[in-house]
Amino acid sequence: MSQSILALKGIGKKKYIAFQKMGLSTIEQLLFYYPREYEDRAHISALSSIVESAKYAISVTVVDYQKFRRSGGKTMHKFIVSDDSATAQVIFINTPFITNYFHLDGQYYLYGQINRQADGLVMFHPEIRPHADGGFGIVPKYALSEGITNKEIRKALLQCTDNIAAVKELLPQQIVLKNNLIDRATALDIIHFPKDLSQLQQARYRFKYEELFNLQMAMLYKRSRIKQAIKQSVSRKPSKTEIKTLFKFKLTNDQKRAIDEVLTDMASDTPMNRLLQGDVGSGKTAVAIAAAYAAVNSGFQVALMAPTEILARQHYETFINFFAEEKVALLTSSVSRKDKLYSSIEAGAVSVVIGTHALIQTAVTFKQLALVITDEQHRFGVKQRKSLSDKSEGVDVLVMSATPIPRTLSLIIYGDMDISTINEMPIGRLPVKTHYVKQPKYQAMLDYIEAHLAAGEQAYFVAPLIEESDKIDLIPAEKLYQSVANRFSDYQVALVHGKMSAEQKNKTMLAFKNGQIQVLVSTTVIEVGVDVAKATIIVITHSERFGLAQLHQLRGRVGRGNLQSYCFLLAKQPGKIAGQRISMMTKTNDGFVIANKDLEIRGPGEMLGIRQHGLPELKIVNLKEDIDLLKTVQADCKQIFDSGEDISHYLTLLEKQMIL
Ligand code: ADP
Ligand code: MG
Repeated sequence: MSQSILALKGIGKKKYIAFQKMGLSTIEQLLFYYPREYEDRAHISALSSIVESAKYAISVTVVDYQKFRRSGGKTMHKFIVSDDSATAQVIFINTPFITNYFHLDGQYYLYGQINRQADGLVMFHPEIRPHADGGFGIVPKYALSEGITNKEIRKALLQCTDNIAAVKELLPQQIVLKNNLIDRATALDIIHFPKDLSQLQQARYRFKYEELFNLQMAMLYKRSRIKQAIKQSVSRKPSKTEIKTLFKFKLTNDQKRAIDEVLTDMASDTPMNRLLQGDVGSGKTAVAIAAAYAAVNSGFQVALMAPTEILARQHYETFINFFAEEKVALLTSSVSRKDKLYSSIEAGAVSVVIGTHALIQTAVTFKQLALVITDEQHRFGVKQRKSLSDKSEGVDVLVMSATPIPRTLSLIIYGDMDISTINEMPIGRLPVKTHYVKQPKYQAMLDYIEAHLAAGEQAYFVAPLIEESDKIDLIPAEKLYQSVANRFSDYQVALVHGKMSAEQKNKTMLAFKNGQIQVLVSTTVIEVGVDVAKATIIVITHSERFGLAQLHQLRGRVGRGNLQSYCFLLAKQPGKIAGQRISMMTKTNDGFVIANKDLEIRGPGEMLGIRQHGLPELKIVNLKEDIDLLKTVQADCKQIFDSGEDISHYLTLLEKQMIL
């Protein structure tokens, strides 16, 4: 199995390199290179049923033959074939020996393009197979890269039938029986050499099952291993009254429940590994504060990581209201390596360290780190997630995300975590009113905004890109800034974008937060987390260029207080999908509904950034179609896991393919 494919006929040094580029160097890799799709040539069409020009397989007898000589010395062989339902012409040009294998009275299967012309059905140069050799069957099509053809892959696989037969079953016997799965070797043979469609479907089902099963078991194992780690810092659980008096507002029931789940985990002697899911504006920060409070009160340190400097600073400003100012520190890339902050953290003088990923990547050492919180965790890539988990051996981990995803899918992506969900919004929140504003209404919209500014409210204007591009007609943020500043000359208008220095950005954001600036024009740097209660209007220009999740995140910048808020979506002639997104936004404020729609439009792989989560690429499963199978697998896995069987070997899959 681990033998090199160089041993196969037809694969020389040069081909080998081309195969290698596709990730195929060993026989085993070749065997498990599943076809991307299949061409069904097993289905035989009756000639009389062919209405549209397309590719067909037919079964015919040759009933007439004529040879023509044409100008330019070309010869044309014209056959008339019949299948009892109708006849068709089959034409070969310059094919001198054709009659050696295709002749009058012969019976054949033919495959190829059939055109419906004025004088009937015509087929040029079809593929031919005599009846005696059997039909074409179902032809697998592999994903190819340069220098490799489908035929070459098939030829290589045809030499591996013994290896296929020797493939061992990996799934537990009880699972195979319970789910009526075809055994692994047979299924693999069918995958590459299918005879009929229903059999093929069963074989594919088997490997889909296997793929999800391995993934789910690995997740369950990883989760159990985290639970086994020795925890150094068990935080005392604060009383309900203690938590209640921390906050000026009344916690929602969902917040209370999430806080209780988190604090229970932290007080237990196994490490917490919990995801807090909650729509934008649902008040996740309060849960982070309660968790930090428990750790700090028990004498431990807390790290809070946010994806942008703006957001890290905002958290800092919030946290100093809950902890002594000198106990909270902001650590971003602008803090010099030599700063004494590092030694304060090491000495344990600072209790809560808030920062961007600088927090995790730099040589920050803690005296007694007990809790690591990651905000907007979907914004972090695989590497950052990994460095976080590296730092967190035996430490309580809380990750927060505003991307609500259906439970089945979260079990795949966050299968190693416990999940708390906040569905409920704080009381008094009014849903944001969202409108699609067409060009003629633009001026009226500006007047409307002005009236709100006059009443002391604030507004965001969002532009998709900062730089002017020749290719796409975007109003860059700077131009937008010019026009907005001109229009609202009685107010303070400022611009933030990604290319500004962190210091400039922070200054502007702070001024906006404090109300010194009333209108903020920005790129998507404000997308995540930023919280300004008086900001009640967000105008999103070129909204057709944003994805649904992103639009929802952007809208989440308003409606965070008790004032009625508005989201205005501008778009020049949105396409069909963009139109769907915009209409969805005007219909609902519910992040869960939006996430489901997003799933429908984009498919889960893209939406969730499967890759970004550090999961292996799914080779045969299509999460969009295979959701029911996933449910079955999840139930089976849980049963095996709960039975206490040793499942450590599933980890090899993770170690081979996944970043743990
Ligand atoms: P997100 O879940 O998007 O991170 P935040 O934690 O930033 O939301 O909370 C949004 C706003 O709602 C903040 O200004 C916060 O102070 C406020 N808030 C949070 N919980 C409550 C509550 N229970 N009652 C009233 N306001 C709340
Ligand atoms: Mg937040």
